[in-house]
Amino acid sequence: TLALDIKDLHKIYRSGTVALSGIDLQVQQGDFFALLGPNGAGKSTTIGIISALVNKSRGQVKVFGFDLDTELEAAKSQLGLVPQEFNFNQFETLLQIVVNQAGYYGVPRAVALQRAEKYLGQLGLWEKRHARARELSGGMKRRLMIARALMHEPRLLILDEPTAGVDIELRRSMWEFLRTINQQGVTIILTTHYLEEAEMLCRNIAIIDKGQIIENTSMKALLSKL
Ligand code: ADP
Ligand code: ADP
Repeated sequence: TLALDIKDLHKIYRSGTVALSGIDLQVQQGDFFALLGPNGAGKSTTIGIISALVNKSRGQVKVFGFDLDTELEAAKSQLGLVPQEFNFNQFETLLQIVVNQAGYYGVPRAVALQRAEKYLGQLGLWEKRHARARELSGGMKRRLMIARALMHEPRLLILDEPTAGVDIELRRSMWEFLRTINQQGVTIILTTHYLEEAEMLCRNIAIIDKGQIIENTSMKALLSKL
């Protein structure tokens, strides 16, 4: 089964910037996949399109077989997104943020509360559940974003530069958490501009540059070439 199937994806922003020019990308169910590339390569645009936050100009995207054009709601329910920017309401408590998120997906409140305890707990945030988000450190906010993305138990988790600005200690514990989630069957795709991060975590990798995939291989094969 393919978790993600992208064919001939193009994106030209209104400004005229060509962000993606013909991306083809397949990610297998269960994979831990890195989308690596320099700033401005098109990683966030790709993720934005997969998450239906950015309109594509041309091409086809399927998430677990659901076409974004014709089966948008089904596709969205398969997918959890951890964007780069903190986009939660800073004045809400952690518990409100994750429980409301589950509500958007129709998860019953009792189930949402159980999941909140599970995911906030696993990410070391359960004690902070009644704190307002703005009181958290940057690293805690990042973990909150991950907990929030898991509340509807998506089969595909996409993280945009998940450890940007996170210190090395916390970075390691986040990696450990993501590995565990992946072992439990969640397919993971992350973007990064650190080869090291991709190397630590990912089985397969695509390198994107100037809106094109210039390499798509296993991590092992890539490392043996360097
Ligand atoms: P990356 O995530 O790899 O850094 P992006 O997808 O953010 O790359 O950007 C790809 C290209 O698209 C860059 O040239 C960037 O300046 C441009 N771009 C990104 N977002 C927008 C936008 N909202 N409007 C216009 N151009 C954009
Ligand atoms: P829409 O409801 O059209 O998807 P919003 O701007 O309301 O757009 O929200 C965009 C995303 O931001 C949501 O899908 C959710 O991930 C996040 N979000 C916004 N507001 C909240 C909130 N109060 N609590 C948790 N997440 C939120």
